[in-house]
Amino acid sequence: MRIAVAEVAQETDSFTPLIADLSDFEALGLYFGAEIIERMQGVGPIGGLFQVAGEQSESIEWLPLIRAWGGAGGTITAETLDFFTKRLISALKESLPVDAIYLSLHGAAAAANEDDVEGHVLSAIREIVGYDIPIAVCFDHHANVTQRMVDGADLLIGHETQPHDPIATGRKTARVMFDMLSGKVQPTVAWRKIPMITPQDHFLTSQGPMKEWFDLAREMERRPGVVDVSPYPMQPWLDVAEGGWAVVVHTNNDQALAESLADEMAEKAWNLREQFWVSARVDVQEAVRQAVAADKGLIILSDTGDSVYGGAPGDSTIILRELLRQNVPCIALVPIVDEVAVEAAITADLGAHITVDLGGKADNIFSQPVRVTGRVSAFSLGVTVELPERGACEIGRAALLEVGQIRIMLLSQRTFAINHPVLYTHLGLDIADAKMVVVKTASNFQFFSRWRSGLIRVDAAGMTQSDLTAFTWKRIPRPMYPLDKIEDWQTKE
Ligand SMILES: [Zn+2]
Repeated sequence: MRIAVAEVAQETDSFTPLIADLSDFEALGLYFGAEIIERMQGVGPIGGLFQVAGEQSESIEWLPLIRAWGGAGGTITAETLDFFTKRLISALKESLPVDAIYLSLHGAAAAANEDDVEGHVLSAIREIVGYDIPIAVCFDHHANVTQRMVDGADLLIGHETQPHDPIATGRKTARVMFDMLSGKVQPTVAWRKIPMITPQDHFLTSQGPMKEWFDLAREMERRPGVVDVSPYPMQPWLDVAEGGWAVVVHTNNDQALAESLADEMAEKAWNLREQFWVSARVDVQEAVRQAVAADKGLIILSDTGDSVYGGAPGDSTIILRELLRQNVPCIALVPIVDEVAVEAAITADLGAHITVDLGGKADNIFSQPVRVTGRVSAFSLGVTVELPERGACEIGRAALLEVGQIRIMLLSQRTFAINHPVLYTHLGLDIADAKMVVVKTASNFQFFSRWRSGLIRVDAAGMTQSDLTAFTWKRIPRPMYPLDKIEDWQTKE
């Protein structure tokens, strides 16, 4: 059996000034041909595919096309999208004939010239292979599902959890694909768009309304004839023409069942809409005060406005400024992306005291640079670490600046490691010594769970802020809850 495999994935934040070009993908892993097979064992959805393939009786010939992973960031340039599409299509043409195509896509990628990157890629593939070759797609559940995606893919399967388990989603997608190829299932799809967006505050699937919605999907999957139920609470900073939440249901050749479950899932989300907007955020002054007053560490201070995993620049100074103002008496770890400051620290050398205007450069709308004087206590000149299930992770050039008890980790780039303990441990810090850590994410706290004693969601403004009503939306369809009043939305037509 010949299976083509590719990954083109990035989560776009429409509200940042950042632009994503090829260099962003190169930093996070841009691979071609056999390198994809080598590097993706045990990594991400494709790693999950390889595991399930190993359990099949039939031998599989892999046709690796392209692997482009871009994390979360700004809008993708038109040239970059064009490069990916051309490379993918030319590799696919060379690989023909194929029995199936397995794609790992994000679902919320937008380019300067294309709101719907995944729909674009799927349409381009269909032009080459037609509609008889099965295409299985593994999506991030923060995808923005569009008509072209549903038309182009036979399977659209999203993550079951936040934080995500990409290998598990890859395995699930692969299992259904192999069942489809063996004739065991005939997937029938139904889907609904839900006219709502909600902030990240309730994105964890382990609690609250998101748990309720995702639990219903899991319960439905245990019913006879149901293949997959994937809820898609779209990532909330994507301003595109078909934006909004969605649900996709696959049954085994039962259209009526698929339609009724899609209705039920859509209604469930709609009925919970107000609960998704109940805020648990604490203003920055109070948040720092609570972290200092906590009887033990580690308190996680979530910088909700500057989530690098949501596409923000990672250079907001809002929390740092407050830590300095309160002159916190306990060790506080704070990352900040500022290439100029990193170079100033490295040039000054170990032990030197430097004065720099930190951060507030990429995000100069919500935060401004803050002047600090501190001691350069460590630096690294570009380290790449291997993270379990994530693969190679470039930290880039980094320097540690000590200002009183505050340990500022200066970074030259937006690295995945920004929310990972390795950022600090690679320069000799012990997380157990810290009372608090600022993370540039509103959901992915799992890497610090060993030390965590508390979590405070800081109500910080920024390009991933939770108050979505404060952005100027230009492209999203209207009416959209809660931007507009919608009196009587009904999923059934
Ligand atoms: Zn996601």
